[in-house]
Amino acid sequence: METSALAKRLARRFVAGDTLDQALAVGRHVNSEGIAITLDHLGESVTSLEEAAEARDVYLHALSAIHDSGIQGNVSLKLTQFGLDFSYDQCRANVEQLVRRAAGLNNFVRVDMESSQYTQRTIEMVADLHARYGAVGVVIQACLYRSRNDIEELCRRAIRVRLCKGAYLEPASAAFPRKSDVDRNFVELMQFLLDRGAYPAIATHDENIIRRTEAYAAGRGIRRDAFEFQMLYGIRRDLQRRLASEGYRLRLYVPFGKAWYPYYMRRLAERPANVFFIARHLLRQ
Ligand SMILES: Cc1cc2nc3c(=O)[nH]c(=O)nc-3n(C[C@H](O)[C@H](O)[C@H](O)COP(=O)(O)OP(=O)(O)OC[C@H]3O[C@@H](n4cnc5c(N)ncnc54)[C@H](O)[C@@H]3O)c2cc1C
Repeated sequence: METSALAKRLARRFVAGDTLDQALAVGRHVNSEGIAITLDHLGESVTSLEEAAEARDVYLHALSAIHDSGIQGNVSLKLTQFGLDFSYDQCRANVEQLVRRAAGLNNFVRVDMESSQYTQRTIEMVADLHARYGAVGVVIQACLYRSRNDIEELCRRAIRVRLCKGAYLEPASAAFPRKSDVDRNFVELMQFLLDRGAYPAIATHDENIIRRTEAYAAGRGIRRDAFEFQMLYGIRRDLQRRLASEGYRLRLYVPFGKAWYPYYMRRLAERPANVFFIARHLLRQ
C-alpha cells in the first residue's frame, strides 16, 4: 500500500507528503490561516534501535527546520518509534535529546499516547523529562478509566496535556466500551483541564464537545489564549476555519513520511463514510 501511487494519492487527504519539506510547505500554508501545527513523522513500532535513532534524527532536524523557517509549530512523537519496545532507557535517551533541543529552541515536544499497554511508561517518561527540561507534554485518552487520576497528577505537576478520545481498540477492562461514556468522560476531563491544566489542548472534531468547551471557557471567564483546540490535518476544514476566525487557538496535527499506512487506517476506521468515499473514488478510476 505504501508504495502504490493511487493509495498514496488517497492518503494525501490526511498526510502532508513523504518529506519534511512537504510538511513544512503545508505548515506555512496552515500558518497563513492563523493555525499552528504539530509535525508527526510517521513510523510507529520500529523494528530496531537503529531505526529508532534514525527517527530521532528526523525529529531533531524537523525542530531545527521549524525554528529556521519561523513556522508556528512543534512536534509530536510516539515512544514506540523512539525504541520503547526494545529498551526503555534507550528510548528515553532518544526522547531526552529531542526535548533538550526543544527547550534550547524555546519549543515543545508532545508525546502521543499509544495503546494502554504503554500508558504508564509514557506518563512516567514524560514526567521525568518534564522535571528536568519542561518543554514536553503528553496525551491522555478519555476512553481509559484511569485517565481522571492521570490528569489530576499531571495537572499537579503542571505538565501540559492534550486530551483526545483515544484511537486504539482497548479491552473493556481498561476502557469504556460505549462511545457515549467516552464522550461524557471527555467533557468532564475537558472541564477539569480548563480549570486546572497548564495550557491544555482539546483535541477533537466533535462539534458538540467543541461547543461545550467554548461555553465552559466563556462561563468561567477563561481566556481564549489559555488553551488550544487541536484537530487532524484533513478533517473538518469547515470547523477549523470557524474556530480560527473566531479567535480560538487551533493547532493541526500534520503527519508526514513514507510509513503512513497504520495512521491512515486509524483515520478510515474512525469513520465508515471515509471508506465509502474511497470505494467511490476507486470505482470512478
Ligand atoms: C490533534 C490530535 C491528536 C491526537 N493524538 C492522539 C493520540 O496521541 N493518541 C490517540 O489514541 N489518539 C489521538 N488522536 C485521535 C483521537 O483519539 C480520535 O481517534 C480522533 O480524534 C477521532 O475522534 P473525535 O474526537 O474527532 O470524535 P468522533 O466522535 O470520532 O468524531 C466526531 C466527528 O469528527 C469527524 N471525524 C472524526 N474522525 C474523522 C475521520 N477520521 N475522518 C473524517 N471525519 C472524522 C466526523 O465529523 C465525526 O462525526 C488525536 C486526535 C487529534 C485531533
